[in-house]
Amino acid sequence: MSEKPGTRALQNWLLAAIGEIPGVISVDSGIYVYRHIDNDPNKPLSVHSYGRALDAGVREDLPGYPNGKWPTSKIESPELDALIERLIERHEQLGIDYMIYAGRQWRPGSGWRAYRGTSPHNDHIHLEQTPAAARTLTAADITAILGDSTTTGSDTDPMAYLIYFINRTYEQYGRDPRKDPEGVDYWIQRAADEHQNQVWTPKLVSASPSLQLMTELLDS
Ligand SMILES: [Zn+2]
Repeated sequence: MSEKPGTRALQNWLLAAIGEIPGVISVDSGIYVYRHIDNDPNKPLSVHSYGRALDAGVREDLPGYPNGKWPTSKIESPELDALIERLIERHEQLGIDYMIYAGRQWRPGSGWRAYRGTSPHNDHIHLEQTPAAARTLTAADITAILGDSTTTGSDTDPMAYLIYFINRTYEQYGRDPRKDPEGVDYWIQRAADEHQNQVWTPKLVSASPSLQLMTELLDS
């Protein structure tokens, strides 16, 4: 037994798409592993044991954490939430029949409900596919169903992201950005440098005079 090709294709697409979302870093937390649910021998085998469950890891992209920081609560990202909703919308074509993320679990028919397992799954999306989808879907199928994974973050508003980034940074250090205009200038440059590959980087750089940003911070 090993990972199923359709599950790998979906995992690859997801990791690429999540990686495009500002503020989030994706990590391949695996597909195939032979184990019982909750590692309890009295419980059934996990769907990971059949190679058709994936764990798409999500880390927060924060300054001082080159590989991202494992979140301790749900990552606040409208783009990530929208991506998960897109998977749900197209669940039939993707063969998704179960998902756990951030304290909730989803099944066709019952929709989202509270999840009360051992781990709240703030740090990864657990997703299960039907045997047929796991066996047959290809990378081309996944792209046809979900679109190009590299355009997920392209409609993000650079200013909104910048404010998010700076507020999170100052929150970490327990300081007020409004009292530190020079520091804010530094973080604007850092945010631009760290996101060279984002579609919106040129927009970010041109839209980032600190005066305008400070005005928006004062308003928010
Ligand atoms: Zn899992």
